[in-house]
Amino acid sequence: MAEVTIVNVGYRSTNYWVISAGDSRLLVDLGWPGSMGKMRASLKRKDVPLEELRYGLATHYHIDHAGAAQELKLVGVPLLVLDVQVQAIPLMKRWTKPQDNYMDITMDGNVTIACSESRSLLESIGILGEIVHTPGHSEDSVSLLLDDGSVFTGDLTPPAFIGMEDPQVVIASWRLLQERGATRIYPGHGPARPLDTRFLETMT
Ligand SMILES: [Zn+2]
Repeated sequence: MAEVTIVNVGYRSTNYWVISAGDSRLLVDLGWPGSMGKMRASLKRKDVPLEELRYGLATHYHIDHAGAAQELKLVGVPLLVLDVQVQAIPLMKRWTKPQDNYMDITMDGNVTIACSESRSLLESIGILGEIVHTPGHSEDSVSLLLDDGSVFTGDLTPPAFIGMEDPQVVIASWRLLQERGATRIYPGHGPARPLDTRFLETMT
């Protein structure tokens, strides 16, 4: 399979990552509510044809990561949902205001799978990797882990910044990613960075 490329089409302090295997592409995190115009412009600026997005995947259902999911579905980008995320989808609306122009995410057209099915689905679009359940920032958080060590972690809290979260849950998620070969983090906010394994080893 061809090597994948990673491009950030983010805006408003949030990263939206396009993982491409040739002209077969996956969008990880899906824009703020009502921001489809901005998403289109950003994709265009980065030379990503909208019609080549095979799926949209939200790392978790917070408005900065999944707010435009339905808008993307309406222009032909199917929503890839993990079974651990289904319950969180209707709850997201609570964090929106009328002026956000949030469009409710419906269940129809969604492709809902278990994490154990993710490898074969990704392979079908030319991407080698898996989707891993990584709770900690929220119960519905997942990470996309590529076989080359790149991992898209959404808002999984860096160990040094754990506050309100349950530290055990957060650390367990990082350890799981490390065990499965994660080396380079592509977070939901801020620049990509190497996985700090020394810090994880010293945590108990
Ligand atoms: Zn979040």
